Amino acid sequence: MIYDRISQFMHSMKDFAKSGFEVAKPEEFQKRLTTCSNCEHYNNGMCDVCGCVIILKAKIGCEECPIKKWTKTEDCEKFLEDEKKNKPKIPVFNPNPNIPPYKCGGCGK
Ligand code: SF4
Repeated sequence: MIYDRISQFMHSMKDFAKSGFEVAKPEEFQKRLTTCSNCEHYNNGMCDVCGCVIILKAKIGCEECPIKKWTKTEDCEKFLEDEKKNKPKIPVFNPNPNIPPYKCGGCGK
């Protein structure tokens, strides 16, 4: 249980860093807090579903409600989309530059 939460926290922090520490705008943050405070899973500042501390979770742009009562910010979605498009390709070793990659460097088939 505690390991799951630590692992989830580390995963969230990794995404937070990857997004360039993108935080929710004040109005988005407030909207998220209001949704959470009216939720049946809200328990003393924590979410019973994911175990997160709501005030932190609501501030991080790339976080989302585990049951989709609120989602990632538009800026985060855009960042993740751009990141996917610009993901570096694994370089292909081609010993014979006269033969296109993905073919045998010797016979060319
Ligand atoms: S994150 Fe979602 S499930 Fe958890 S308390 Fe907020 S609204 Fe409820």
